[in-house]
Amino acid sequence: MKKNEAKLKGLNNWLGKLGTSGFGKCIRCGREININRLLFMPESNHCISCAK
Ligand SMILES: [Zn+2]
Repeated sequence: MKKNEAKLKGLNNWLGKLGTSGFGKCIRCGREININRLLFMPESNHCISCAK
């Protein structure tokens, strides 16, 4: 339940960035986040390398 809430919050966060240069980009290194990662883990706003 809590995990779903975090996912929803993350998804809303991305939707808010839709159409901006920050959409789909890692907040740490600025590289584009893999779309599959974005869809499966919307609560994460880091790319795979930065999430380690
Ligand atoms: Zn990164």
